[in-house]
Amino acid sequence: MKKAACVVVLSIFFVGCTNLSQPNVIDDKTELMALPENATDNTGTHNVSDAKSSGAAQAPDMFEVIEKPRSESFNPLYKITGGQKPVNIFGRNNNVYITSHELNEINLKALKQIETDNTAGSKLLVNQDNPLPENFIPQNLVNIDSGKVKLEYPELKLLPVTLKALYSMVEAAKEAGVKGFIINSAYRSLTTQQQIFDANLSGFKKSSKTYEEAYAKTRQLVALPGNSEHHTGLAADIFSVNGRHRNDFKGTKEQVWLNTNLQKYGFIIRYPQDKTKETNAVYEPWHIRYVGIPLSIYMKEKNLCLEEFYSKIFSGEVLGDSKSAFMGIKKAQQVFTDEALMSKVSLEKINENNVLLTLQLG
Ligand SMILES: [Zn+2]
Repeated sequence: MKKAACVVVLSIFFVGCTNLSQPNVIDDKTELMALPENATDNTGTHNVSDAKSSGAAQAPDMFEVIEKPRSESFNPLYKITGGQKPVNIFGRNNNVYITSHELNEINLKALKQIETDNTAGSKLLVNQDNPLPENFIPQNLVNIDSGKVKLEYPELKLLPVTLKALYSMVEAAKEAGVKGFIINSAYRSLTTQQQIFDANLSGFKKSSKTYEEAYAKTRQLVALPGNSEHHTGLAADIFSVNGRHRNDFKGTKEQVWLNTNLQKYGFIIRYPQDKTKETNAVYEPWHIRYVGIPLSIYMKEKNLCLEEFYSKIFSGEVLGDSKSAFMGIKKAQQVFTDEALMSKVSLEKINENNVLLTLQLG
């Protein structure tokens, strides 16, 4: 029987954390997975339908999170169904174990630790509340090949992982007859960010009554230096040769294609039209951000912006659909898995304290 997308509040990972900028730190000695007493019902399962994000008109997902009662040495187990085999997640001594075995079948010695991948950085959250660390410089920036995609300016750079996805996307667009993409901006150093901010601020000063008004207008349009996604090498501003500027890109063949297809290549529209309150940024149909598959596809399907997605993750929800599941863990927590698991597990840094655990259900 098909079940609706289910989400269980996992207070274990982010106990009482509601603020994106100030997540609570779980002490190393804290017993993991200490759920509130009333979180487990008498039957041992506890499913909460995520009506908000699944939407009434959508087909139900096969993704389901089942919470089982705690045992003596292992705290509550979460069973995620949807793949070929259910995935069991449980905690012990602040570690997280992910396996297809049942509790009584687990051989702790056979488990191997999964390392956090900090290299790609595609899960980074960068905004006003989450500035990049000082002296942040992305590793291995590469010039965009102007033979593969047109450039407004020479020597625009991105991370290799972003570039690879960008080339695939532009190539697919060409095959669909959409050939006019042009990149206007990619990686921006702190100095460039400051110059852009200052230039916008002095422009707005001329049309504003007060400095505060000019500053507020600038902030809506340009990220504060140090808070720009362009600093990561994961974001680019992509326009159309028939709409090269802010006001004339929307409605071009390229914009329409981009908006429909970018998630297939790991990108999201970072500042969507209907999420200006959540992102605190104006709608930018040209600003694409690489987050990788399957997150890009999940966010598109659920119509979530990055702030909304991480807000849910930070409040302890397990999110997912029939193909993937996402949850947050603390940087200090270690994650183990075993060979019985058919799902792919990855750990990627969100910010200084938090890591996103992605399960691609096998
Ligand atoms: Zn941008």
